[in-house]
Formats: sequence, C-alpha cells, structure tokens
Amino acid sequence: MRGNEVLMVSGSDTHGTPITIRADQEGISPAEVVERYHADFLNSWERLGISFDLFTHTNTENHEKVVQDIFLSLLNQGYIYTDNMLLAFCPGCERFLPDRYVEGTCPHCSYERARGDQCDQCGRTLDSQELVQAFCILCGGPPEFMESEHFFLKLSAFQDSLLEWIKDQPHWRANVSNQTRSFLEGGLKDRAITRDLTWGIPIPLEGYEGKRIYVWFEAVIGYLSAAIEWAANSGQPERWEEFWKDPSTRSYYFIGKDNIPFHSIIWPAMIMGYGNGLNLPYDVPANEFLSLENRKFSTSQNWAVWVPDFLDRYEPDPLRYLLSINMPETGDADFSWSEFVRRNNEELVATYGNLVNRVLSFTYRNFEGLVPQARPLDEIDRQMLDAAKAALDDVGNSLEHTRFKAAVGQAFGLAQEANRYLDTKAPWRSIKTDRNEAANTLNVSLQVINCLKVVLAPFLPFSSQKVHEYLGLEGPVELERWDFEHLIGEVKGGSALRQPAPLYIKLDPQVVEMETQRLGNENS
Ligand SMILES: [Zn+2]
Ligand SMILES: [Zn+2]
Repeated sequence: MRGNEVLMVSGSDTHGTPITIRADQEGISPAEVVERYHADFLNSWERLGISFDLFTHTNTENHEKVVQDIFLSLLNQGYIYTDNMLLAFCPGCERFLPDRYVEGTCPHCSYERARGDQCDQCGRTLDSQELVQAFCILCGGPPEFMESEHFFLKLSAFQDSLLEWIKDQPHWRANVSNQTRSFLEGGLKDRAITRDLTWGIPIPLEGYEGKRIYVWFEAVIGYLSAAIEWAANSGQPERWEEFWKDPSTRSYYFIGKDNIPFHSIIWPAMIMGYGNGLNLPYDVPANEFLSLENRKFSTSQNWAVWVPDFLDRYEPDPLRYLLSINMPETGDADFSWSEFVRRNNEELVATYGNLVNRVLSFTYRNFEGLVPQARPLDEIDRQMLDAAKAALDDVGNSLEHTRFKAAVGQAFGLAQEANRYLDTKAPWRSIKTDRNEAANTLNVSLQVINCLKVVLAPFLPFSSQKVHEYLGLEGPVELERWDFEHLIGEVKGGSALRQPAPLYIKLDPQVVEMETQRLGNENS
C-alpha cells in the first residue's frame, strides 16, 4: 500500500521433535502429522486474514536441495566438521533419543518434567546428561549415554564478525540487541547440527544414512528456500534474488523471543559462511511472551485459545485488534477475556464502529445514498483533514519501524479526532437549518473514514474491506494506496454509497465467564 515491493514468506517447520513424538504416540508417520497440521495452519491463516505470498513447509524437495547445498558449501569451507559426542540412547527402544525424547528433574530448579533441551519452569537450556533421574519418554526406562559421530557448525569462527555486525544495527529492539550481545559476549560454542534420526533432511554424504540434519540448522534456511519456491511457482525462477541479493532490500524476521539467537546469531553466521551475496537480516523484531489469564499458554494442559475454535464463535478483527494493541513488543503482555470484551465494546464498537456507522447511515438516509458535495472548507474542516494526513504519515512510519502498538494507537487517535469533529459540527442539527453545512461536514467525514480504512487495514482487514465497499468503491482494499491526495479524491461528491451495516457486534460480558470456564478443561 505504501508502494514498496514486498515478499512475505513463511512455512511450517516440519522436522521438530514434537512432530515425531506425536507420530510415535499416535502410531502414524511424521508426514501424516505434518499434513494434518499444515492444512490446519493454512486454513487458520486464511480465516484470520493473514496472507502470505507463500506459506510452505520444510518437507519439500526444494527445501532439501537448498539445505544440502548450504551444508556442503559450509563443509567445503571448513565451517562444518565432524566430531564425536555423547548422546542419550534407550536400550529398551534400541534408539538414540534426541533432546525432547528425554525428560527428568531439572538440576537447577528441581522441576520434574524438564526436557532434554530446556526446563519449562526456570527456562534454562539443558543437555539431557544434566537431567536428574532421566527417563525415555517412549518407554519410561533410563537412557544410557553413547558416543556417536556428528557434524558441528563452527560458530566460534563467526564471533568477531557477528560482534562487528551487530554494532551496525541501532534500529533493533532493545530486547533483541541485549540478548544477542550477551549471547555473543559469553562466547560462541560450536554446535552439533546432526542427530541420529530417520525423519529430517538427509546428510548428502555416504555413510550417514541413519543420521539427519537437525531442525535448528535447517529450519532457518526455510526463509530462503521459501523465496526460491515462490519464484519458481511465479514462473520467474531467478526472481528470489531481488529479495535476497539486492543490498537495498530489507529483510525482517518476525519471531518470538525464544527464537532470537537463531535469527540474530546462528542464521547470520550461516549466511556469512555461505556467502554468495545473500543479505543478512535487516531487523529481527522479536516479541516478548503473551500469557493467557496471567498463566503461561500450554497446549498439553488445554490452557489455550484455539484459533479455529475462536473463529467459530467470534469475528477475526476483534482478535487481531486486541493482539495488536496489546502486543508484547517491549515486555510480556497478557490476553484476558475480560479485556477482549472491554476493548471490543469500548474501542471497536464505541469509537470506530459507531463513527463509521453514524456517518454512513446518516448520509445514506439524508442524501439519497450519495456522497454530498463539499463547498469551500472552514478552519475546523481543514484541521480534520490535516489530522487524517498526519495519521497516514505517522501510522506508516510506525509500521516501517515495526512499532505496531503505536501504529494502531495512532490510527485510533484519528478515529477519536473524527468523533470530536462530528460532535462539534453536529450535522444532525445543522441539517435542519443549513443543509449545505451538514453536507460539508459529512463529505469531510467520509474522506476521513476513507483514510481510516487505509491506516486500519493492516490491523482490521475485514472491517476495512466492508468500509471500502460501503463507500461505493470496488476491488480489494489492500490494493488501496497509502496516499492522502489519492484517498481524498477518491470519494467524490455525487458518487453512490452502499447501505451500511454495523461493523462490530457488542459482546455480552457473559462471554468472559463462559470462555474462562473452558480454559484448562479437557472436555471442552
Ligand atoms: Zn529448571
Ligand atoms: Zn525407551
């Protein structure tokens, strides 16, 4: 909308251990687990109005080819080498146990269900050898530790270049900068990038058939392979290079804070080693954590709001609004049902929805469904339009700097301003005494609503599409231009409006009781 060319890609990480664990538990293949969840994700994205140029997954031939190419290139340049390491092996199951297949008591906080890679209670990263009374999650038996040959990524070789590079990233969020710097200053250790598994990307060398490239090394390559797949699908197979090799391209990685080092250290190190002119990340705007009713989300304990379940009951835009205005950008945040109801009723319905509905239905009724002609503007009208112009600049600027909370706040500031303008001008009174004055106010209000529709489109796409249509305009709202002069000329005096309906439904506070009762309840 701002005129930048954007490629938005992502995908399902199909090789994580939770997938093989689920497959083992249900007695189905990991590929079947992937197929089921990937289809669910695609469906949820669509229902939420979140669109990608490509949302793929990492279980594709293309991804395998790209990963193996990077692996071999790093190996040939000496950035990958082999060494022996001790790994958990279950004699009962006769198999090696990757990190999450081992659980036990955390040596730091005594939590009894700590995993072989991390303790969920104290958050520390662990090695399965550190667990007290470790057990295999498949059979419950104690694991043994056996030597196995694996490939290591020589992260230590990139320590200095990474430290230099992060000095040039003053625009990073403080949480990302701080975590990255402290990680680097602690010294980078080489890490094993393969495991004894049969699910995952094969090692492209003879003699390693029982091993796979581990997920943390290959999943980040998914951003690159997705762009390559997108280009191939578009019929211009070289086109991905514009987004990966042109130095004027900025790449953004939208992630959660538990993934920061993978995107700010490991992936950049891999790109530095691989070379070939690939761009390093421009920004890694990681969010902090979101809790649910002040408790950590847990899918296993059903302490969660399931997207398909939510969308069967409520509209997507109120959820998008709450998650934007309450985004854990700079600190942890909480999702609560009472806040959901409050913000829906007080902000979406009362501030924005009523404004749109009030102006459109009043105009529709009193001006035969047509946009009234404006006569020369007075000072108050001009101030209102200036505010709309400023909001387009401010919201655009905030979005460019990945300050989403600020952006949605600024957009709502314009809606509040428009409400004040209407209250001052009171066209429902002036229509009885000075029809031209009322026409003028409504014309200006419609122009402002046309701007509001644009600044709110990234947050409330379904609402913006409706407003776009009520204003008598055609086509998808995301093809609109983020441009004041264009928007002001678009809703012309004399053009036809469509009969409006309310944008949002006021929610009954009983929703809070009903939804909180369902939390953590296995049967609902
Ligand atoms: Zn712990
Ligand atoms: Zn076992």
